[in-house]
Amino acid sequence: MKLKPFEHKIWLSSPAMHGEELKYMEEAYETNWMSTVGENIDRIEHMAAQLSGCRCAVALSSGTAALHLAVKLAGICQGDTVFCSDMTFAATVNPVTYEKAEPVFVDSEYDTWNMNPSALELAFRKYPDTKAVIVADLYGTPAKYDEIKAICRSHDAVLIEDAAESMGASYNGIPAGSFGKYNAFSFNGNKIITGSSGGMLLTDDDHAAALARKWSTQSRESTAWYQHEELGYNYRMSNVIAGVVRGQIPHLKEHIEKKKKIYSRYQKGFLNLPVTMNPYDAECMEPNFWLSCILIDREAMCYQFRDDDTARYVKTPGKSCPTEILETLASYNAEGRPIWKPMHLQPLYRKKDFVSTDEKNVSSDIFDRGLCLPSDISMTEEEQDRIIEIVKSCFE
Ligand SMILES: *Cc1c(COP(=O)(O)O)cnc(C)c1O
Repeated sequence: MKLKPFEHKIWLSSPAMHGEELKYMEEAYETNWMSTVGENIDRIEHMAAQLSGCRCAVALSSGTAALHLAVKLAGICQGDTVFCSDMTFAATVNPVTYEKAEPVFVDSEYDTWNMNPSALELAFRKYPDTKAVIVADLYGTPAKYDEIKAICRSHDAVLIEDAAESMGASYNGIPAGSFGKYNAFSFNGNKIITGSSGGMLLTDDDHAAALARKWSTQSRESTAWYQHEELGYNYRMSNVIAGVVRGQIPHLKEHIEKKKKIYSRYQKGFLNLPVTMNPYDAECMEPNFWLSCILIDREAMCYQFRDDDTARYVKTPGKSCPTEILETLASYNAEGRPIWKPMHLQPLYRKKDFVSTDEKNVSSDIFDRGLCLPSDISMTEEEQDRIIEIVKSCFE
């Protein structure tokens, strides 16, 4: 069977606007709060604090900026070791490098694709003086925070939650964005709630929030002139961007419902294929289903070769691989994406240490066999069914 390419592109995850965004942006314009101060900023800080359950929220220019200030608040200095999720977007880790500290990568687990608590425990045995741990909630699924928090507590380390992908998710009924001492949301263009860009730092510590606010606005002291006693950054969010976020946040639940439907439809559609979806523990986890991903069974993988700049595979009946599926999707005008390439495999970070309790090296294995499928809220059921057929055709 030959399917026709899509007439308009099927996106991985594009912004889903509703109209209120424009109203609040216009309000910023009409009232001339075209700056990094204004009603929209105040309102979304309040909303973000409420939905994460944190006392304080500081609106920033990006999720990366939020993570950078979190790393500084945790007191990380040059030469300090920081444990980081291995399989994640580089923005989880780069702030550690901004501060000239040393990231040590901790392997993932198959249960959630997030940081493996046993590997974290092992990392502490190797580097007992480590002061901070940064855990990313991959694709909208929270990590096993009961275990991770207990390990951090027993080693007196600060936990930072990178909740850039997991806004609205929860673990044991507790919202993502509240598990660390410092936590970060991102509002970049493909996240579940977008401002086109932007981020939010979340914490229960009023003093830390005040400090982050000061650092984010060039660390001006409260003198009559421009007095600077410490290094500052231009990290504050614009009130126009905050207008977009303000219009979006009320639609978070609805976005999650749509993403969850997409996930379930894939899950049903792939019942007879040798693949599994990105997993979570339904007993205690409520993901936001930001991206739907699949992992191809080992026996169903055709030969695939990837180095730093090329990807090849050998077409094999009854088998497939992420490279084949991604190329096939692209040929039909649909956007998939490889799994985040693990940090310990990145040329930038290859020399850093990597701690794993598995011989197999779980994050590399998921990278080899996994991929993200189109998970766009505006995708229709018919379009998704065609995506499912396209994926199936790769295994013929
Ligand atoms: C998107 C993302 C970030 C960075 O957010 P920006 O707002 O783009 O700076 C950080 N960590 C993870 C896991 C992300 O997916």
